[in-house]
Amino acid sequence: MIDESIVRMYLKAGEIAKRVREEALSKAKPGMKLLDLAIFIENRIRELGGEPAFPVNLSVNHIAAHYTPVLDDKQILSDNDVLKIDIGVHVNGYIADTAATKSFNPAYEPLLEASRTALEKALEIIKPGIRANEVGKVIEETIKSFGYRPIKNLTGHSLDQYVIHSGYIIPNYHDRLVRWKFQEGAYAIEPFATTGVGIVKEGNIATIFSLKKVRGRLSDIEKRIIDDIWKSRRMLPFCERWLTKYSRSIEGVRNILKSLAKKKILHVYPILVERANGLVSQFEHTVLITGKEVIVTTL
Ligand code: MN
Ligand code: MN
Repeated sequence: MIDESIVRMYLKAGEIAKRVREEALSKAKPGMKLLDLAIFIENRIRELGGEPAFPVNLSVNHIAAHYTPVLDDKQILSDNDVLKIDIGVHVNGYIADTAATKSFNPAYEPLLEASRTALEKALEIIKPGIRANEVGKVIEETIKSFGYRPIKNLTGHSLDQYVIHSGYIIPNYHDRLVRWKFQEGAYAIEPFATTGVGIVKEGNIATIFSLKKVRGRLSDIEKRIIDDIWKSRRMLPFCERWLTKYSRSIEGVRNILKSLAKKKILHVYPILVERANGLVSQFEHTVLITGKEVIVTTL
């Protein structure tokens, strides 16, 4: 059962995520540094009374997901970029996960429209009792009707307190094996459309991390970092930009992360790249199903 105080926290997270998403969409312009956009987004989340549920993902063109700007990021948005802005907000661990795509070249508008419309159509049919793969079918058919492919190995997901991927997946195609039915709970629905083959692979950089089980010998600074992260966000993801108070230099922060990764204390999330280097668009909303109603918290 989702009680009313929990519903209120989901709604608050949703309100903040939606507002910051819209602000970020109007702020993103050619010539802007990706890093400045990330800092703006995460500051706004905190100003509005939330916490980032994960570092904002600003994935450009053929990068589908999992890129967040690094401390010395130099990347500048160009007028030919397809930018995915994927924002997570949590209030006491209750998460809103939402994304939108921005492009400055009207030629890419149909690619954006494909995933935007797929999300709309998916949301129209979600209610208790509907199967996850029926939602996937609608997403696949919609994206294909625009002449693009859905990304098959990226999925929507159930959400739980302090957990972004809590076990149930919502496929972006008619996956016959995914037969579970929607019931009370929170779910992120996120169609990806691409001009490529519709599969992502891991790239060779990683900018996002989360804690795993703590084991082995740790230095004092490592203990402090792990303690701070665990207390404030448990296993929710983080990035190097949030760790500057632990070291005076960027190199220092990176060395701490390297050491923690080597001790197998960190999950490392590599960027996800479209296999044929196709352009990728994504839209995402969070849906809350209570005993009484279906609410899109980020709409
Ligand atoms: Mn997301
Ligand atoms: Mn998501």
